[in-house]
Amino acid sequence: MTYRVAVIGAGPSGLYAVDGLLRANPDLHVDIIERLPTPFGLVRAGVAPDHQGTKAVVRQFDRLLALPDVRFAGNVEVGRDITWDEACEAYDAVIVATGRAIDRKLGIPGEDLQQPWGPLVWGSWRFVAWLNGHPDFRVGPDLSQVRSVAVIGNGNVALDVARVLAKSADEMARSDIVPEAAAAIAAAPLGDIHVIGRRGPEHASFTGNELAEMGRLARVVAVTDPTDLNVAPPSSDPTPERLRKARNLEILKGFATHQPGSKPITLHFRFNAVPLAFRPGEVELATAGTLPADLVVTCIGYDGEAFPRQEGVFPVGWARRGPTGTIPTNRTEGHAVAKEVLAWLEGRDPKSGPDILPAAIDVAGWHRIDKHEIAAGAPLGRPRVKLTDWAALLAVAQGD
Ligand code: NAP
Repeated sequence: MTYRVAVIGAGPSGLYAVDGLLRANPDLHVDIIERLPTPFGLVRAGVAPDHQGTKAVVRQFDRLLALPDVRFAGNVEVGRDITWDEACEAYDAVIVATGRAIDRKLGIPGEDLQQPWGPLVWGSWRFVAWLNGHPDFRVGPDLSQVRSVAVIGNGNVALDVARVLAKSADEMARSDIVPEAAAAIAAAPLGDIHVIGRRGPEHASFTGNELAEMGRLARVVAVTDPTDLNVAPPSSDPTPERLRKARNLEILKGFATHQPGSKPITLHFRFNAVPLAFRPGEVELATAGTLPADLVVTCIGYDGEAFPRQEGVFPVGWARRGPTGTIPTNRTEGHAVAKEVLAWLEGRDPKSGPDILPAAIDVAGWHRIDKHEIAAGAPLGRPRVKLTDWAALLAVAQGD
């Protein structure tokens, strides 16, 4: 009675679902099917490269990939190498953990503006994937003339983007940012970074530790207009939300006492500023007028690809609940979805069709990539230097 479960996507939500499945110790076999040759999804490509503590969760995930009932199948894309129908047909259950990797658009004039040196406006997925060495996003913005950056959004992704741009080379030295991005940021003539919220600071979705970190950066002074801060968290919010927002307001009040220009880069938190249009070198904001911006990064959330919604298919993570929540959110949810899957399987006859997996990068192949990257980072004192080229990833995985 061995059931076969496919998990599509080797990011945190899929891997926590696998963890949940195997903790129940059922008689099942799990195939983790991943489009990239490398596992770990958002942890590898989305968590900011300087937040190595958050990335350390991959050690737990790596142990899962090595278990005998688990097969990692990298470089296999559902929709290209096998169809969704084939997957649903062949497996007793399919867990969809494909995340959300499409940058949402603001839908305002100038969003697709091309300057001679590239687009003015970058979505945060694309921008952060570049910092993180995602092989589909090897080209980043030309920062050589960028003095002023507008970061649109008041979530933790906006803080990630602003912080990585703001940190000094020394502060990034023990990160796994790709060397080209690190060099481009270090050489950019950055003077101002504006983090722009369309609502007031009492609505910002920053979390306290991440916001407070912005006040401790070597070459950056964080500032804000104190007149925006005479507000309180909405009384209708649940207590933890009110506490989080109250802490944000306290931190921002500290920033409001700082002197703009007292360090090489001024990081401005601007509120109640709805973006209206982008023009070469500037962004127009309701209430705040125009701001100079040689680069804009929109951090306003993500959409996902469609997948079949039918019996036996179980979405998890961002594919299920949308682009919210931290890595640990996925643990609770992944374990709950695993329970749903096990309940669904109970009493069913296992399918007995052929193995449909095409040739793939297996866990040994991933470990060859891992070893190669760690070795490349060692002489530089970095955790790793990532391979960013598809052909190189495949060659190293295959032992060439
Ligand atoms: P988020 O927290 O939902 O923030 C999205 C921001 O975009 C909000 O400020 C939202 O404003 C704004 N926005 C949306 N549409 C907009 C529009 N049309 N015009 C202007 N602003 C717009 O999402 P996120 O920053 O993408 O982060 C995704 C999830 O990952 C979050 O749960 C986050 O906490 C988590 N994350 C955690 C960490 C960490 O723990 N260190 C790091 C990165 C990400 P409104 O509020 O007005 O809608």
